[in-house]
Amino acid sequence: MKHLSYSVKNINELEEILYSSEIKAQANFSSILVQVFSADTDGKWIEKVTTSISKQLPQAVIVGATTVGEVIFGKTYTSSTVIGFSFFDTTTLHVISKEFDNTKEFDTGKVIASEISTIDEHIAGVLLLSTPLSIDVASFLEGIKTSESSYPIFGGGAGDYASMNNSLVFSKQWIKSKGAVAVVFLGKELQIDYRTYLGWKPLSQEMTITKADGMLVKTIDNRPAFEVYDKYLGLPNDENFFLNVLEFPILLQRDGKELARVPVFVDEEGGIQFVADINEGEKIRIGYGDPDLIINDSAQIHQLVQTFQPEAIFLYTCGCRRFLMQELVELETAPFQEVAPTFGFYTYGEFFGTPSNLQLLNSTMLIVSFREGEVKASNNTLSKIEKEVPEDTSDPYLNKHGRIISRLVHFVEAVTSELAEKNVELNQLYVTDQLTGLYNRHKLDEVLLYEFDRVQRYKASLGVIILDIDHFKQVNDTHGHQVGDYVLSNISNILQNNARKSDTVGRWGGEEFLIICPESDLKGLIQYAEKLRKLIEGFPFDKVGHKTSCFGLAMYQEGDTIETIISKADKALYKAKNNGRNRVESVY
Ligand code: GH3
Ligand code: MG
Ligand code: MG
Repeated sequence: MKHLSYSVKNINELEEILYSSEIKAQANFSSILVQVFSADTDGKWIEKVTTSISKQLPQAVIVGATTVGEVIFGKTYTSSTVIGFSFFDTTTLHVISKEFDNTKEFDTGKVIASEISTIDEHIAGVLLLSTPLSIDVASFLEGIKTSESSYPIFGGGAGDYASMNNSLVFSKQWIKSKGAVAVVFLGKELQIDYRTYLGWKPLSQEMTITKADGMLVKTIDNRPAFEVYDKYLGLPNDENFFLNVLEFPILLQRDGKELARVPVFVDEEGGIQFVADINEGEKIRIGYGDPDLIINDSAQIHQLVQTFQPEAIFLYTCGCRRFLMQELVELETAPFQEVAPTFGFYTYGEFFGTPSNLQLLNSTMLIVSFREGEVKASNNTLSKIEKEVPEDTSDPYLNKHGRIISRLVHFVEAVTSELAEKNVELNQLYVTDQLTGLYNRHKLDEVLLYEFDRVQRYKASLGVIILDIDHFKQVNDTHGHQVGDYVLSNISNILQNNARKSDTVGRWGGEEFLIICPESDLKGLIQYAEKLRKLIEGFPFDKVGHKTSCFGLAMYQEGDTIETIISKADKALYKAKNNGRNRVESVY
């Protein structure tokens, strides 16, 4: 195959190209794919471009999308129209264009997938373009996932330079603002290598999506989603919200892969609409791009791509990468041009995977390398190489903006993880009794509340045990407070070491302990308390010798409150003391 790219400003320029010897020389290729990526969302210009191309190259398959930046010769163009001609030796092409009727994204995906599955030839891959501003792309991709085949799918969502109202996809004489175009590459010769990397780092603390509906996140940690963004970023909810927030996507883990989700706008209730799906219950953090990471990832992928020896490289890369990296964005795109002609566009979301694991990505760089036939001994020659990326790393001022961002991202990351560690420590302290290391009264109250809720909701069972050491005052009086403390912590160890996993053991106060036992009956509870009683009785305390203890047991019964069950256990304890101590008693 051979790939040629051009940028055009008007139809005259385009016609000159179409009539040029460079294009005419390719007449012997069996099929031609023309990809058009344009900043112009007025369909008239696109119509003129595609008409002109199909007049001169009637056999060509023409597809394209509007953008938020164009990639040509590995460089970033803005507000332009770029046209990539791919000439194939043996590969044939099949185009499917579908318009969405409002509610049926999933079904449309399914239709495209089944149409592809009827093709009786080897499928090397599928380029997919769609309009995420006007349809639910996530469910569209879900529809495609109904296919059982395993060809690579790659592509992206059409953009509109952040005005967020109209993006287009098109094929020959077909332009839609609610549509999808698929180009199916057919034939055994075509080799496709496709890869992604993200380069975004999670910065905020971890939070939970508490209410979501498709691509709309209503609440995060039970607060309106916008409040969370406002808290961390101080962003006004104005017409520039999308532009300001673009570089701060939500990051989440799904199927072991880190995914980004870019916010679009805020609704009246403070919910945030995203360009891709987020599910209720998913754990998220707000992230930011790390230029160092991005450039390193790019360099690594660059090497892998090089060994593949592509004849063309297509980049479908998220618009927010351009906003983040600014003019330095070419540090990640330009190296690919050294390998093969590099062409593509900045998207509103990337599509990546086989039908079984197809993913809707955001903020991601998708690199698709094409080669027809086996690796060639002598590598291809590039039709055009334009390199303007500064490479002199000895200049300390080079890439200053990116370096500062990288340092700040690391700084925030370090502070956040320090805080997270401190929070874990603080939380531990907050619920722990310092002398014994058991849960404290505060935590026991919390567990009681939780277990009461559970027992009332599910008609489960719940027992509590209060333990009080017999004649403990004597220990203090005879041997001093320190020896008293020593006895307390040894008894705590006995309780902790013999607690069942489902039980909660804590210090209720002084020399009294509480054990909360869900899922146990009175018989079991008595056996358990007897076991503890004997263990304590048998323990030889230094200086003190043996100590005994009393146990008051109570089982939850309908109508009980936390107060009444504790008071029943207290009464049982009192009974044990009255009946001679070193005993287990229960009230029910
Ligand atoms: P009984 O068999 O009736 O329970 O007798 P008792 O002596 O254990 O009764 P009481 O509840 O009156 O005594 C509890 C004692 O526990 C009083 C207090 O000095 C001691 N105590 C409470 N907390 C601590 C502590 O943290 N360390 C030590 N060393 N002693 C404590
Ligand atoms: Mg006591
Ligand atoms: Mg006591």
